[in-house]
Amino acid sequence: MAVEALTRPGETMCALYMADPHSYSLVERPVPAFADDECLVRVSLASVCHTDVIIRQGIAGHVRYPFVPGHEFAGVIAACGANVRWLHPGDRVAVHTVMACGQCAHCRRGDTNGCEHHEEMGSSRDGGFAEYCAAPARHLFALPDHVTMAEGAMVEPLANAVSAVRRCGIRTGEQVVIIGPGPIGLLALQVARLQLPATLILVGTRPQRLALGRPLGATHVIDARQADTRQQLMQILGKGGTDVVIECAGTRSALELAMEIVGWRGRIGLEGVHDGDEQVPITPYQLLSRSASLLGVNGWTTLDFAEALDLIARGLVDPKPLVTHTFPLEQWEAAFEMITDHKDEAIKVQLAP
Ligand SMILES: [Zn+2]
Ligand SMILES: [Zn+2]
Repeated sequence: MAVEALTRPGETMCALYMADPHSYSLVERPVPAFADDECLVRVSLASVCHTDVIIRQGIAGHVRYPFVPGHEFAGVIAACGANVRWLHPGDRVAVHTVMACGQCAHCRRGDTNGCEHHEEMGSSRDGGFAEYCAAPARHLFALPDHVTMAEGAMVEPLANAVSAVRRCGIRTGEQVVIIGPGPIGLLALQVARLQLPATLILVGTRPQRLALGRPLGATHVIDARQADTRQQLMQILGKGGTDVVIECAGTRSALELAMEIVGWRGRIGLEGVHDGDEQVPITPYQLLSRSASLLGVNGWTTLDFAEALDLIARGLVDPKPLVTHTFPLEQWEAAFEMITDHKDEAIKVQLAP
């Protein structure tokens, strides 16, 4: 361990810490030691995700205690382990927080998000809601100079959107409906637009989020509280329905709507996280008769992450309008309240450790 290379040997740092399902608090912790193939990253900004809200409630099934949460973050390399060759202190990086083993059958096929021994910084290893995080060098992606830290901390959620769009296989000229204008929905909208669909409809219930629809590429925006959503959609789509629905709302009504409007050889990408025990009735004949597919989308691969960073760097996706609030780490409770209470029309909230 290259502990002696620490920039702040023996010092402590501020970190959110979860020792067990009932403790989620700001603590003083030692600046982490890092291995020879790791870097010590000074975290600049970390985005708060809906998953973080679930983790804080102590009901997330995928975590391993104890850990520092935060899985969407970017920072500056403070120190490098002895075997790190291509990165240097001072480099600005986005952190590829999912850690695949590289050796299971899924990893061997390059399908790293199916890894059987999957780990993640921010749920099973220490993550980014801290001043420092130790991360393997191969999980650090250098940020081009013009990419801001706020954008760098949005690469991970964008990788989810890239993954969802890829899964649905949108072809030029198709009709696409995005349900749920949350952070992933608004990012998926921008990625879907790049596939050149003929129609790109955003459906949701919150006016301030829906207002971003057209500037970010939607051809139509439908406020689901205003009128008969299905009727409005079918008027735009025509009787054939839609080729693709990306369901980012994670609600029963959203999935039911998706199954109603999906057309011949249509694909429904399930990106929104539903409650683990939620039941939604399906009419098998409806899907069968249209040769339609219901596709789960779980996580992202390294390719998705690399593509997400590239899309931001080339200005093809703009995550900036989504980042509505930034708080110092000490005010983490206020940051979480913005999301849980839908305060001030918050979309994405970031913490600055
Ligand atoms: Zn997330
Ligand atoms: Zn694996």
